[in-house]
Formats: sequence, C-alpha cells, structure tokens
Amino acid sequence: MVKMTNIKKNIDKIKAQIHHACQQKDQLNDFNEQSKVTLLAVSKTKPASEVEKAYYAGQYDFGENYLQEALNKIKALDHLPLCWHFIGPIQSNKTKQIATNFSWVHSVDRAKVAHRLNEHLSSDLSLSCHKTHNQDTLLNVCLQVNISDEESKSGVSLNDVFSLAETVNNCDKLVLRGVMAIPAKNAPVDVYKKMHALFLQLKALYPSVDTLSLGMSNDLDIAIQNGATMVRIGTAIFGNRT
Ligand SMILES: *Cc1c(COP(=O)(O)O)cnc(C)c1O
Repeated sequence: MVKMTNIKKNIDKIKAQIHHACQQKDQLNDFNEQSKVTLLAVSKTKPASEVEKAYYAGQYDFGENYLQEALNKIKALDHLPLCWHFIGPIQSNKTKQIATNFSWVHSVDRAKVAHRLNEHLSSDLSLSCHKTHNQDTLLNVCLQVNISDEESKSGVSLNDVFSLAETVNNCDKLVLRGVMAIPAKNAPVDVYKKMHALFLQLKALYPSVDTLSLGMSNDLDIAIQNGATMVRIGTAIFGNRT
C-alpha cells in the first residue's frame, strides 16, 4: 500500500505551526513587532504534479537542490506563477542556468560564484537567452554560512562572511537578502543564536538584508524562536524522500 501524502493538509499544519511559533516568540519580545515567516516548500526529488498540488493549496515559493531536476519542473510548471529558490550546492559551471531560471539563491558561499551569477545577468547575451522565470533580471541572494563547522557541509566560514557580503553587495544584479544555514542535527541553541546575531549585524550594514533562512522540518520551532524569517520545509509537506 502506498501511503498518500495529503499536501494541503500538511501545508495547513505547517502554517499553523509557524503561526504558533511566531506568537510564542512575539510574547517573549518586549517590542511590539510581529514576526513574519515565509514558508519555502522544498520539493527536491518530488514530481511536478506534487508541486502543482502545493500551489493549489496556496504555496508559491519552492526550493530545489538539483539543477537539472529543477529545470525540468520549472519548465513543466511554466503556466503557474511560482517563485523558485535554488538551495543546493553550486557548481560554478552551472551559474548561468541558476541565474536565469531562479529568483533566489540561498547557497552562495564564495566570491567566484557571486561574480559569475552577476555576469550572466549583466551580459547582453543573457537578454537573448530564453529567460523563463527570473524576468526582473535581479537575483535575490542569501549567503550560506557554515555555522556548525562540519567539514561535510558547504558554506562560507563566519570569518569570511562579511567580505563575501561586501562582494555580493557590489554586484549590480545581485540583491543581498541575508544568510542561510543548515545546522547539524540537534545543534545547540547557541548555533541558532549565532546565526541570528550575524543576520542582525548584516542587516545593520546593508538595508537590503531582511532574510534569515533557517529551519527545516525538524528544527522549525527553534529556528523561528531565534529569528528565522524563512523556513525551508520538505519532508513535513511532501513526505519522506526515497
Ligand atoms: C532538503 C533540504 C531542506 C528540507 O529538509 P526537510 O528536512 O525535508 O524539511 C531544507 N534546506 C535544504 C538546504 C535542503 O537541502
């Protein structure tokens, strides 16, 4: 028996969980600012038909890790007004397709990649290539930070993040929106607090910074309690990946 995933039910449940976490956080805060958290549905390994179901359940933002798989879905769902986010590791020879097909990239972790993304959007050539989704020719960028200091995870180190931020900010086609991290499983709360502090520091330096991309199916609450403004949820919406 194949277990059917009720995508709409899952999205409603996650939205309620986000709302609840925001309320808890706002109650603890002295100032009267209401938390707002964007739900990014991570659809990697899931077919376009599942993304379409999520869209009809009210979901617009989708995250993908693997370029070729993502391009197939972007093409198949061209008729829907979706916002695509690239969240996977970036090979520098894939930057053109990323820059021209996605509205957001969460995983910029080195200057070379930033420069290449920018060049593809700046060159006259890119105007003649069939740009499907990213019509506005500006690319929203989050810097992926290696916060848990694991060798296996990609991301810029805390030491280098400010210089990379400056590089991205100096790229005319890139908009520095913030930082992204994938904390290790069961990471201590300090890791989340460190990311929040970094986000606030960058926000003070660059007016375009408004995004702390932090929190997945298993750490959504702790991420929101520590200031996440965007959570990336796969399993809790689309079910387990095989
Ligand atoms: C797969 C993935 C997610 C979603 O993870 P879940 O645990 O399925 O919610 C979020 N962010 C990134 C970068 C991912 O690769």
